[in-house]
Amino acid sequence: MAEIKQLPKRSEVPVALTWDLSTIFKDESALKKAIAQLSPQVDALLESSGNLANNGATLLTAIQSELKIENQLERIYVYAELKNDQDTSNNQNQALKDQVNDLVAKVSAKLAWLEPEILAIPKATLANFQNNNADFKPYKHYFDVLNLKRKHVLSTKEEAILAGASSIFETSENVFGILDNSDLKFPFVKNTAGETVQLSQGMYSTLLQSTHQSVRKQAFEQLYAVYEQFKNTFATTLAGEVKVHNFNAQIRGYESARQAAMSESAIPETVYTNLVTEVNQHLDLLHRYVGLRKKILNLKELHMYDLYTPITGKSPLNYTYLEAQEEAKAALQIMGDDYVSHVDEAFKNRWIDVVENQGKRSGAYSSGVYGTNPFMLLNWQDDLDNLFTLVHEMGHSMHSYYTTHNQPYQYGDYPIFVAEIASTTNENILTQYLLDKYDDPQIKLFVLNHYLDDFKGTVYRQTQFAEFEQFIHEADARGEALTAEMMSDYYGKLNHRYYGDDVVNDSQIKSEWTRIPHFYYNFYVYQYATGFAAASALAKGITTHQPHAKDNYLTYLKSGSSDFPLDVMKRAGVDMSQKQYLEDAFDVFEQRLNEFENLL
Ligand SMILES: [Zn+2]
Repeated sequence: MAEIKQLPKRSEVPVALTWDLSTIFKDESALKKAIAQLSPQVDALLESSGNLANNGATLLTAIQSELKIENQLERIYVYAELKNDQDTSNNQNQALKDQVNDLVAKVSAKLAWLEPEILAIPKATLANFQNNNADFKPYKHYFDVLNLKRKHVLSTKEEAILAGASSIFETSENVFGILDNSDLKFPFVKNTAGETVQLSQGMYSTLLQSTHQSVRKQAFEQLYAVYEQFKNTFATTLAGEVKVHNFNAQIRGYESARQAAMSESAIPETVYTNLVTEVNQHLDLLHRYVGLRKKILNLKELHMYDLYTPITGKSPLNYTYLEAQEEAKAALQIMGDDYVSHVDEAFKNRWIDVVENQGKRSGAYSSGVYGTNPFMLLNWQDDLDNLFTLVHEMGHSMHSYYTTHNQPYQYGDYPIFVAEIASTTNENILTQYLLDKYDDPQIKLFVLNHYLDDFKGTVYRQTQFAEFEQFIHEADARGEALTAEMMSDYYGKLNHRYYGDDVVNDSQIKSEWTRIPHFYYNFYVYQYATGFAAASALAKGITTHQPHAKDNYLTYLKSGSSDFPLDVMKRAGVDMSQKQYLEDAFDVFEQRLNEFENLL
């Protein structure tokens, strides 16, 4: 008789395998007290509105109390989020989350006056405040960041109108989300075991990994049949979103939406164009990898639905959670004793919510707030993929740990441009560690394939998305209509260029743009690709023991947002304003592809 695996209830999970949220709030009454204290502070701050330009002390006090409010609000918000994620079926958790979301919206609206008022202070007056008051020193970069917006801020009245309309600007993304997550109905298909299952976003990715081509094909065709039915609606929501990006950029005097998005972190647009150029110059490597896939799978035709099925069989390496802890520490030992001692703290002091339970949020992430330890959510399974996930999330958590212990609150977080570098450096270090540790060709093949697939999905695929994103923004700016047909036409050609002649460019794939939520994020995806490439270069420096590589890397982890991302990364050892780090990353990819080919 088949064994039916039932997930435990939240209350049945051993405490040692749950995270300890009491480091955020000791108990419910501490949380209630923090919530109650917030409003009076926001109201008190409001009293200084209109007076910030009077003198430096008034300005600084206002900024400091705003940061204090922000920190407390984050603490409340993160607590409610984590509590809800551990069991989304718990009504009390849901109610708390709703209450806190309301609170966040109210407080943000009440604080909206602050930034425009600071930016209305003439630059010379601000410089004067800074020069005559030593207390401003820890805020120098804070003002540098703010000043980037100075040229692009509108009149107080215009800003107020825009702030009032902000929820209207979110309509396209909201409609996409509702359609994609709840209104689309997917048909029933057969899974690998021959059972009938309902197709969904999650089920689709499972079915695409099936070892039966007929299962993959059916899932692919059925999923795209649903999306294609609504392609004109999806074209309208995406066009609406692109228009918002272009409109906001234009009224604020930016040359393009891309320039506006990237200038927030002072990232020059050449970072983007270098990425696209370099990836295109190395498409031959992707074509080679895809060709290998076709050969190993022994297929006459390799289709778009054959790109996710494993080609090296079942994982030869499996780990219990305890074994994974030891292996993670052994792999990360190269970062030094201090780093590993904090990894150990994460395991011992319940920073991690380890196992699945009923109602728990799926996937994995690292979270936290300034002033508490980081937290990690996992849904642990005993395999190599989960060990990779563990070191990935640990990379984020160590980044948070070192940043919050070395920076004041105003620099105590980090932008997305540098965030994925800490996590994927750890993944790259684990890859090298396993390749060095094992001689068994089966294991080597599996680890190499894990890396090659990761590189394909992160560097190549995200750059393909970035090219599409750029195309639709430029077309709209030129006044061209973004119809389903023109977007599909471009996407189909783009896909063929990326995967080459060895893959059948199935007609369905040209509609892939209909189902990618990231196209609503405004020039976001390129950072996955640049981050992975930078991580590849950094991990290489660390694992080959280049002078200062490890220490420079730790400096990056400690820097938070105390400087512009490119400057932080330069000190870590990668100059992301140049092309070399991308070429280094492709060198590693090529070497490992060669190794993979030789082992076969
Ligand atoms: Zn991550």
